[in-house]
Amino acid sequence: MAGHLVRYCPLCADALGVGEAVWLMSPDSWQVCLRHGYWSDDSRGRGPDFVRLAEMPEAVTAHQGRQQLAERWGPDGEELFADAFQVAVYWWTRMPDVVCWVRRAWTAGLDAREMRAAPLVIYPEAAELAGAMLDFECAGRRDTADRSRWLAGVEQVMAGWGVDVAEGRQALLMWLGRHRRGVPAPSGPADGSGLLLGVGHSRIASRTGPVSQRSFLTWQLGMAAADM
Ligand SMILES: [Zn+2]
Repeated sequence: MAGHLVRYCPLCADALGVGEAVWLMSPDSWQVCLRHGYWSDDSRGRGPDFVRLAEMPEAVTAHQGRQQLAERWGPDGEELFADAFQVAVYWWTRMPDVVCWVRRAWTAGLDAREMRAAPLVIYPEAAELAGAMLDFECAGRRDTADRSRWLAGVEQVMAGWGVDVAEGRQALLMWLGRHRRGVPAPSGPADGSGLLLGVGHSRIASRTGPVSQRSFLTWQLGMAAADM
């Protein structure tokens, strides 16, 4: 499968006893070891090999939140996280100087504007946004007033993060545009265990691969803001 060659957690690697750096194939360009609290990625040579998450508990919480979404809702939960992550990518590309992102990058020993820092610094907001998207989908109320109410709520949270609402709203509108119609009841799972994502959601999204492919929002880190 296509993926990224990502450095394995140093302590997990030690346990393997191979005596040299261990790399693994990962769908995303990073991986998190919750057991040892390490973030690692596919970068080589520049900056730290690993980021210790002890000083960034919000990134640990975010990863746990992502896992819970996947455990509870399966691929649908993973895709909602992917959507939220892509929205945060859009925000970071336009606004890399958001204070909490700069602070996290520095904590990690990374430059705030280097692309490598982006997935790590936006992870907490991506996970929180995924929670808000889940609330929207679970509520199943998608008319204009419902969408406006949801948007206003998320914008308030965004402002609290220091993300410019006017600059970042477009990404949320695109997401809402794809999720404004629900799946007709008969095609949904009868036992209520599934999540009925908006009908526009799955037109492009892939069921596997990195977050950038699991979302219908196909922005990529490194893309110019004008191309998004
Ligand atoms: Zn580990």
